[in-house]
Amino acid sequence: MTTEHSLSAADAAADVPDFFERLPGIDERRILRQVIDAVPAGVFWKDIDSRFLGANEAFLKLLGVDSMEDALGHNDHDYFPSEMAREFRAMDRHVMDTGEAIVEFEEFVISPDGTVDVLHTTKAPLRDELGAVVGVVGGFRKVTSAVKIEEALLRSQERYALVAEASRDGIWDWDRGTDVIELSPRCAELLGLPGSATKMMSSDVIARFGPDQATEIGRRAGEVFRSQSVPIDATASIDLEDGSRRWVQIVGAPLVRDGRVERIVGSLADISDDIERERDLEHRATHDGLTGLQNRWSLNQSIERVLAGDRAASVLYLDLDHFKVVNDSLGHHVGDEMLEAVARRLTSVAGGSSATLARVGGDEFAVLCDGPDPEASERLAELIVREFVAPFEIAGLEMYSSVSIGVVHVADAHRTAADVMRDADTCLYRAKAAGKSCHRVFEPSMRDDADSALSHQNLVRRAVETMQFALHYQPIRDARSGAMVGVEALIRWPGEDGEHLEPSAFLPFLEQTGLIVRVGEWVLATACRQLARWREAAPGAADLYVAVNLSQIQFRSERLVDDMVAVMADAGVSPADVVVEVTETAVASDPEAVSAQLSRLRSLGVRIAIDDFGVGQSSLSTLDRLPADILKLDRSLVANLRGSEPAPVTTGVITMAHALGLVTIAEGIESEDQREWLQRAGCDFMQGYFFARPMPPEQVLDLLT
Ligand code: C2E
Ligand code: MG
Ligand code: MG
Repeated sequence: MTTEHSLSAADAAADVPDFFERLPGIDERRILRQVIDAVPAGVFWKDIDSRFLGANEAFLKLLGVDSMEDALGHNDHDYFPSEMAREFRAMDRHVMDTGEAIVEFEEFVISPDGTVDVLHTTKAPLRDELGAVVGVVGGFRKVTSAVKIEEALLRSQERYALVAEASRDGIWDWDRGTDVIELSPRCAELLGLPGSATKMMSSDVIARFGPDQATEIGRRAGEVFRSQSVPIDATASIDLEDGSRRWVQIVGAPLVRDGRVERIVGSLADISDDIERERDLEHRATHDGLTGLQNRWSLNQSIERVLAGDRAASVLYLDLDHFKVVNDSLGHHVGDEMLEAVARRLTSVAGGSSATLARVGGDEFAVLCDGPDPEASERLAELIVREFVAPFEIAGLEMYSSVSIGVVHVADAHRTAADVMRDADTCLYRAKAAGKSCHRVFEPSMRDDADSALSHQNLVRRAVETMQFALHYQPIRDARSGAMVGVEALIRWPGEDGEHLEPSAFLPFLEQTGLIVRVGEWVLATACRQLARWREAAPGAADLYVAVNLSQIQFRSERLVDDMVAVMADAGVSPADVVVEVTETAVASDPEAVSAQLSRLRSLGVRIAIDDFGVGQSSLSTLDRLPADILKLDRSLVANLRGSEPAPVTTGVITMAHALGLVTIAEGIESEDQREWLQRAGCDFMQGYFFARPMPPEQVLDLLT
């Protein structure tokens, strides 16, 4: 509704056209508006259903709204206690029904902001041009003063009852002479007393708050009785019979007669919701929203407290080994479910009274074990690793995510929580580098060689600059003849101690920084040159192919295919001798672009293998859309194969791959049992420690000759 409408109603009510006729050239409505707003009293008009049509500024102020737009179409129920709104409405009805004005009657009003006013109100019927009653127009004067309210309260029991009933808050009145407190029914209810308890000795009322708070409230009331001006404003709680706790705001002011505080009158408001909201906010600030465990901030606080109290404690820093795969291939929704399941399992294994569990990042968790027994926390780490080997059941799927753990015993060298977490991070990284699904205990020597994550990263950068990497090759064999048909090139980083670090220790960093593009090119070039060398040296290598893994980051380069073609040509190897392994996740990262690049490679003769299939188990349906030749069954589909036990998922994947014209390679075969099972199921090629571990190129040559 527009202001115009309101004004036309006002015109009808005002009925003073002659006045405007004497002011030609000035818009009447503008004048009328200004006149109405200039009146210090409240003016309003409502339609036949008592909905607000218009009002002046004084009235809008009483409602607590900024403009008429906000009040338009609302009624008294939207602003005043319901008992009170009903009274107003009854009065409107009376005026409209009788067609007669009521002049200057006294009303109590409790505004939305809680202030109590006494008004002298006039209401008159609002009529249209034909004289029919279409609403009500009203005006009021505030006659409020402390004295007025006080008098009204003291004199009129009836009015007192109205205010008390109308208010959502409880009203109480403490008589100093008798020491009796009179309670409104609502007040009794809030105190957990029967509604009939309307008069009680002050000590009995105050006792509702429990001994400690009662003493304090009694003291404050004593102060108010002694000095005339101090009001009460306090928060207190009442323990209810059903075991719940109610929080109330107690407000009270002295009523002074003849220079003496005669009584204290006040209200009691239920603020449990506010307090709960506050607690909820506090909980949210200190807890992880997904798992309900503590968050990183609050874990740090706990560690700081341990350090401040000089207490013995250990921190277990956990990282899920394969979470990224689950999250990327099955989506965040399933990823979240997985994290919740992880939190539940962690709680059931480690959630003792002396342990604080926290989720500190995406798939990182921590356990703070309070206590002087370092071995106990190491045993706990071991137990957690063991418990995480079992699959999680999520969205009807069995999913695996082992966990790696770094254990730090809080020591003198730790001055801040950050010191502790840095050491935890260092040895977590050690656990990952040692092949995952295990724990490592921090030793100060680790700090020296991996002083910070930074130095590790710097080492990787330096390794890329001088390409200090090596390739190991793992044979892939024909399931029936056992002949070696190809090798998969797997990158290694030769450490200073002669040990080779596995890709999980440095690939993530290479991917994050994009360095993988350069390294990937080096891998392809090295593998192709190696294949050419084997062929020169051994006739058995004539039909051998080499498989290289491609990271999804590499597909972001538009030059990828051209560069690969050049590298193969340079090494003297035909595209038909090369297999490119990509994961579904890599394809899913940008399905159109990646598929297009794979199609181009394929048209050149390069074969495409979908790697690690079955980790997500999600995309059976999208598989036929991928430009692929080979499906590599992930280790998790092989690990549980035993004897002649049925494994419907594994069987299903092989059958379906064949139906789609794909050749199958099983990865991670570690036993004769598994080999036999897969052969029976019709799997075409095999790869795994059972046949051979990834090995340096000289050893492959031994196998070929
Ligand atoms: P992948 O492509 O699935 O490679 C197979 C992984 O399984 C290798 O781990 C291999 O050592 C391991 N493996 C083979 N047989 C068995 C077995 O019987 N049992 C067990 N438990 N493991 C077995 P690795 O070398 O640590 O490589 C891990 C992953 O790193 C690879 O998984 C691949 O995704 C990635 N990667 C390796 N080299 C490269 C590379 O040059 N470029 C890129 N972009 N990624 C690479
Ligand atoms: Mg691979
Ligand atoms: Mg694989």
